[in-house]
Amino acid sequence: MIKELGLKKVINASGKMTILGGSTVDKEITSVMEEALSIYVEMDDLQRKSGEYIANILKCEAAYITSSASAGIALTVASLIAKDNLSAIENIFKYSRKNPNKVIIQKGHSVNYGAPIQTMINLGGGEVVEVGYSNECKKEHIETIIDEDTVALLYVKSHHAVQKNMVSLEEMSKIAKRYELPLIIDAAAEEDLRLYPKLGDVVVYSGTKAIEGPTSGLVVGKEKYIKNIRLQNKGIGRAFKIGRENVLAITKALDIYLTKKKNSKIEIKDLEEFLEKVKKIKGITGKISKDSSGREIYRVELDFGIGRCEKIKEKLKDGEIAIYTRDYLCNLGKLEIDPRPLKDGDLDIIYNRIEEIIKEIGE
Ligand SMILES: *Cc1c(COP(=O)(O)O)cnc(C)c1O
Repeated sequence: MIKELGLKKVINASGKMTILGGSTVDKEITSVMEEALSIYVEMDDLQRKSGEYIANILKCEAAYITSSASAGIALTVASLIAKDNLSAIENIFKYSRKNPNKVIIQKGHSVNYGAPIQTMINLGGGEVVEVGYSNECKKEHIETIIDEDTVALLYVKSHHAVQKNMVSLEEMSKIAKRYELPLIIDAAAEEDLRLYPKLGDVVVYSGTKAIEGPTSGLVVGKEKYIKNIRLQNKGIGRAFKIGRENVLAITKALDIYLTKKKNSKIEIKDLEEFLEKVKKIKGITGKISKDSSGREIYRVELDFGIGRCEKIKEKLKDGEIAIYTRDYLCNLGKLEIDPRPLKDGDLDIIYNRIEEIIKEIGE
């Protein structure tokens, strides 16, 4: 059909992009999809059992598969407003106008990841309350705005969000507990599936990013919240219906993601792109270099200059995310980026951090 439709061939050297279809999936996953499409299943049973299966492997209370992370956000918000009230579920927008529906988010987290996160909150009947400034938010900003109309706090764990001068996830988690409010974490593209459910009450992931599954979303967290998200099928959840093939396939993808060690898929082309970007920062040069002992390994070799290389190396290690570079050439002013252990998204994080450090210490 690709040919019949005249679709363009895509070479994705940019990562896991929704505009390019998300992830390519393993054969093991496509065979699960094929099997699922050739039979009927009891959908409620499938949703419940896949959720239990995932909760079990992630060692969290409950999980629920949605059609996307965005759907996960909208359904979570709707469920926190309507709870298990059927009439509220069926008439979410009418209900949310007259009942608590405020979702608090730091201004620097009010992102557009291809669509605005605000719109997903609105889609669930939520009213967005942005707090702080685009470059600064303190815990007092959040605490003073919490009132009886607040239904949740939302934290966006993402490279899209402003990183500096924001309230940390750990702090948000404490505030949520202190005020007995649920904390929603948008961790759509994050790789750690076990850490965030410890810090938040409902954590939303995209199935097609780090997990490398089909188009889908995953919501994990406390059963008392997840059970009400399931009920949204009788309301706006219907518009986010997911097929049995995708429910089974994301479950399989999770299994693979958590058990198999993946080899890096990052290619030289990706490294060249990264290099070109970094070279635009004043004072940095670099090249792609082959492994000095002759193995078929290619790395990005960045030249920062002798005087400051050590400092940059240490700052890379000491950031919010610790970035360890190959430092054998540091005495010559150079650091290498080795792609083999890198996961998708890492190159961006490294780039941003380098840019930040150079800004901080000067050219
Ligand atoms: C990609 C992304 C989303 C949306 O995920 P979908 O599964 O495409 O809906 C939400 N939040 C963040 C931070 C993202 O990066």
